[in-house]
Amino acid sequence: MAARDCIFCRVAREEPPGQIIYRDDRVFVIRDIQPQAPVHLLILPLHHMASLAYVGPGQEQMMGHIFLVAEEMARREEVTVSGYRLVVNQGFDAGQTVDHTHVHLLGGEPLLPLGNNRS
Ligand code: 5GP
Ligand code: ZN
Repeated sequence: MAARDCIFCRVAREEPPGQIIYRDDRVFVIRDIQPQAPVHLLILPLHHMASLAYVGPGQEQMMGHIFLVAEEMARREEVTVSGYRLVVNQGFDAGQTVDHTHVHLLGGEPLLPLGNNRS
């Protein structure tokens, strides 16, 4: 999918405006439109990246930066002490629905253990 047609690239371009709660020169953060926890943020690269398969040496700093921004957002949302989960759904089996790589930050209540995947 071209960046022109990507939902998250449109959000990055402020189309429609007002969704972005954090932005710097590499990433931006929005609230998930269908939150699965009291705190459910998405942390995304500003530049369109369809898949982790495209992460190369040029993206190392940006990928690490996402984790720093995640912790900063967790602090702002007051979930650093209670805890939070970072999730990347990569590809079909993981249920990725938007082909612009993003990290989910979930918290604000106890989350189901990952072990539930096989129950
Ligand atoms: P995935 O399933 O690809 O890991 O996550 C995509 C997420 O994006 C879903 O949780 C979905 O609710 C969210 N989402 C889809 N479209 C929009 C949108 O236009 N705005 C926002 N804020 N979230 C969206
Ligand atoms: Zn995109």
